[in-house]
Amino acid sequence: MAFVNENYLKLPGSYLFSEIARRVNKFKQENPSADIIRLGIGDVTRPLPAAVIEAMKKAVEEMGHAETFRGYGPEQGYEFLSQAIIDHDFTPRGVNLSTDEVFISDGAKSDTANFQELFGVNNTIAVSDPVYPVYVDTNVMAGRTGFPNEKGQFEKLVYLPCTEENGMKPALPQSRVDMIYLCFPNNPTGMTLSHEELKQWVDYARENKSIILFDAAYESFIREENVPHSIFEIEGAREVAVEFRSFSKTAGFTGTRCGYTIVPKEVMVYDTKGEAHSLNTLWLRRQTTKFNGVSYPVQAAAAAVFTEAGQKQVKETIDYYMENARIIRDGLQKAGYKVFGGINAPYIWMKTPDNMESWEFFDKLIREANVVGTPGAGFGANGEGYFRLTAFGTRENTERAIERIISKM
Ligand code: PLP
Repeated sequence: MAFVNENYLKLPGSYLFSEIARRVNKFKQENPSADIIRLGIGDVTRPLPAAVIEAMKKAVEEMGHAETFRGYGPEQGYEFLSQAIIDHDFTPRGVNLSTDEVFISDGAKSDTANFQELFGVNNTIAVSDPVYPVYVDTNVMAGRTGFPNEKGQFEKLVYLPCTEENGMKPALPQSRVDMIYLCFPNNPTGMTLSHEELKQWVDYARENKSIILFDAAYESFIREENVPHSIFEIEGAREVAVEFRSFSKTAGFTGTRCGYTIVPKEVMVYDTKGEAHSLNTLWLRRQTTKFNGVSYPVQAAAAAVFTEAGQKQVKETIDYYMENARIIRDGLQKAGYKVFGGINAPYIWMKTPDNMESWEFFDKLIREANVVGTPGAGFGANGEGYFRLTAFGTRENTERAIERIISKM
């Protein structure tokens, strides 16, 4: 008889998106003529940039000839891509990195999920609440938590509430923690931290010998000046932080799959004798053992994002989404809703009217405006009473959805 990893049994079923689908289907059956608009999706809808397609086709062609064929590549990615990432995303911001600090992967979900493997099982962890569920669930699977309470919060995890009072910006943990997951621009709240605010986290981590796992998957949506694109723009961060990035939302790679993780050589973890070990060395060991790299055509396609044409095309698409974000944000604000995000992120986090519960608002929105969004309660206890709308739809649907919310709700 094989035994189960009992940690998996602590996890409730993946409830959020299946429950949304169930309620939408039920509504459709009862109202077959309803014209439903979805503003809940976290997936992009615009096609890949032309420069990316061209580079991918060329790379596929190379794979078809013995002279240019490539087999296994380096597990941590091709240097042509890591160098392009450094030259474009980091050097201009005053961040010095070497190519062996960049690890190319199939996306930020795998990396944010897998990175916890390098840490001891007794480490304490802080996450914001609401939160991107991957950080929590993977630590539950690894045995770093107890069971969830009636609010769905796992024993041993430190939850940092993001509320209207703190402007959706989590406060530093009151007790010492070993690992901190931060995500800015944030999913689901759409909020960012300024240099000064992020510096407080880096200072905390340095004082407490904690490590920050910084998810910057939405970095390319930042519009405002005083918002850091990378945690490594903050002095001292190289000693305490790891950063996750993705081409998914930046360049439409959700179905193509490419991301990267920056692991500076200075970040250390300690054994029970107090001896230091480099996270960079450990992550390389992990990746070379468990991962065989991202396909060559996909890495060639990702590198094309950094060409002049690629940059222009990517910017056009992001501008398109951010105009949707502005339409949602302004429309809701004019209609009297309290909203967060949508300025440096494709997410708009709205407070439900009259303290309505998230799911109750979901039902009312689909019934009266035929619009689907994501109930905030699905992202954590402090998401209750909030609702997430996304800017990834078409312009026409975004405009129609907001008009309906304003006139019918
Ligand atoms: N991190 C955050 C905060 C996300 O919202 C998402 C996707 O929705 C990811 C990571 C996953 O990105 P990828 O497509 O690169 O796996």
